[in-house]
Amino acid sequence: MPTYAYKCFNGHTTNLVRKIDERDAPASCWCGQDSRREEVSYFAFSGLFKPYVSPVSGREITSRGAEVDECLRHGKIIAEPGLERDISRWGQEQREKAEASVDQAVASELKHLDF
Ligand SMILES: [Zn+2]
Repeated sequence: MPTYAYKCFNGHTTNLVRKIDERDAPASCWCGQDSRREEVSYFAFSGLFKPYVSPVSGREITSRGAEVDECLRHGKIIAEPGLERDISRWGQEQREKAEASVDQAVASELKHLDF
């Protein structure tokens, strides 16, 4: 479930994990005021958002929040700076792990062989 940020009239921010269809229900702040949902929330993000049309649904995506919703709704990964690098690093780690377990299996088999 996504995390949403809520702000009360006194300016306090509360982060809550909620279902998408419950995200607009008011939240209560520790100070006793009602909090309203802020435009997301999901990642700390700097820079201007450039609107575009979603290739998945044809919906116009006008904010980070709309983009996060769209990605969640359609099971897509959000493109973040550094994502490709992380995926490639993860792939390298997986290959190294796989090779290490093959090496181990070969070494263990060789131990049982009589030459
Ligand atoms: Zn408050």
